[in-house]
Amino acid sequence: MTTFQSLGLNDNLIKAISELGFETPTQIQQKAIPILLNGTKDFIGLAQTGTGKTAAFGLPLLQLIDTSKKIPQALVICPTRELCIQIVNEILLFKKHQKGIGITAVYGGASIGLQIRDLKKGTHIVVATPGRLIDLIERNAITLEEIEYVVLDEADEMLNMGFQDDIEFILKNTPNRQSTWLFSATMPSEIRRVSKKYMKEPVEVTVGKVNTGNKNIDHQYFVVPAQHRYEALKRLIDFNPGIYGLIFTRTKMDAQQIAEKLTREGYDIDALHGDLSQPQRDKVMGQFRDKALQLLIATDVAARGIDVQGITHVINYELPDDMEVYTHRSGRTGRAGQAGICMSIVHSRELGRLKQMERMVQATFHRSEVPDGKDVCRKQFIYFMDKLLETDISQGAYANYLPILEEKFAHISKETVLQKVAAAEFDRFLKYYENAGDLNIRDEKRGQRNSDFNRNKSHEYIGKGRDRNKIFNDGNNGFTRLFVNLGTKDGFYKASFLQYILDMSDLRKDVLGKIDMKEMNSWIEIDKKAAHQMIRAIDGKNFKGRRIRMNDANSR
Ligand code: ADP
Ligand code: MG
Repeated sequence: MTTFQSLGLNDNLIKAISELGFETPTQIQQKAIPILLNGTKDFIGLAQTGTGKTAAFGLPLLQLIDTSKKIPQALVICPTRELCIQIVNEILLFKKHQKGIGITAVYGGASIGLQIRDLKKGTHIVVATPGRLIDLIERNAITLEEIEYVVLDEADEMLNMGFQDDIEFILKNTPNRQSTWLFSATMPSEIRRVSKKYMKEPVEVTVGKVNTGNKNIDHQYFVVPAQHRYEALKRLIDFNPGIYGLIFTRTKMDAQQIAEKLTREGYDIDALHGDLSQPQRDKVMGQFRDKALQLLIATDVAARGIDVQGITHVINYELPDDMEVYTHRSGRTGRAGQAGICMSIVHSRELGRLKQMERMVQATFHRSEVPDGKDVCRKQFIYFMDKLLETDISQGAYANYLPILEEKFAHISKETVLQKVAAAEFDRFLKYYENAGDLNIRDEKRGQRNSDFNRNKSHEYIGKGRDRNKIFNDGNNGFTRLFVNLGTKDGFYKASFLQYILDMSDLRKDVLGKIDMKEMNSWIEIDKKAAHQMIRAIDGKNFKGRRIRMNDANSR
């Protein structure tokens, strides 16, 4: 068994680690620590969240620092203020018995004056968020001449949040940097680019499964005529009643106008754009973070650096001009292992650009349809009723009013009450959508397909470059449909469901056709040749204590 001693750490560090209760090094620590202690120049460490990456770079740094000169020698860059504080606290624990090492945190949203004073006292390790660090560099408040080690922690998150230029600026401004260590949970292509440009033959260590991009994100697009963009946006929001979403526009004016329009129509939304003062901006951000706002609409510049947990949907009101911006935008959802959806409203002329983005993100984008009015109404209706049923009545401050309530409703049946509730909540909504038209652009083939399957708008098409009509008409062309008793009720999203069935059966995505998910069941179109393998791998298996049933729907 590998121990911390065997990795080459000194006694002071070993003592501190054992006092913390760390018994054995984690895999990334086992692999990274000896390499980094050896004075390896450049290093890339890929491992999932929670695998102890802080110690993997923090311990070697503490051992490599030269305490005889009190000047910054190591720079740790991380995406958020919270993370910055967390890293400093952890390193402080590690250096408990290692005297004479200074560590300083610098991050935005706190007094820069105090941080400048801290830096002036002299320090060895600076842990920083990119924006604040650049501010300090430009004020000449930090000495970077002696920086030997630069650590980029959560590099993928930093790139998602739009910090690419900032990171490059920082790397360019550390002229005597000897070693660059990059840690990340995923390996998107931009990280490759940064590492090619700023690192020399990095040693790369991967622990566990690492994705090329974020597989938790389901990328969807909706093809509508430009004049229907706004209406399509509204429908997408209405079709997802529990949405906690971030909407992107290209211009300030769009962000502002759409926010105003939606607010007038009763939506819980505000805009973030460059014309806001800092206090205004903080106020909007605070409200969104506290979920007092359900939707935030922003330009790319204004949204830069926003880190909010739990965003369910990112909506591109328009595609960005710059392809890389798509990754920054979509990366705001699907964080920390949660599923997320990135929706783009596009015009048919933009399909080519969308294809390029698809290649860059290395994920399949699913063409979906803007739901029709009836679907939206049904969805809202069910959502409201579910909420009504879930309402907690166990601790009623309203108890005093119950007798009055009972008296008032004494002569009305439960059915009538329910109808009245429904009418009060939905009449306006139903009227609005009653005559709502179809917003989708359909080409010839799609039109035909749609007339066949008009009732069901939740289909999605998976598998690039195949003739979709062929799959759809099915019968003799090599595809069949599998039934499975798993659905959205089991907590699956399309993307996570897809990943689940593929992982279980060890098949590749391109054997699949359309996936149709319902609450309780799903239907999977699959190459006939692969169907048996999938059934064998999944049918009869256990899912959260329930037996999975999977069979060929066409031969039932
Ligand atoms: P990551 O940066 O990979 O997401 P962290 O460095 O934040 O992970 O570590 C996650 C948690 O695991 C922290 O609470 C840390 O103190 C703890 N930890 C790290 N290494 C070990 C270890 N070898 N044994 C036990 N706990 C550890
Ligand atoms: Mg970490």
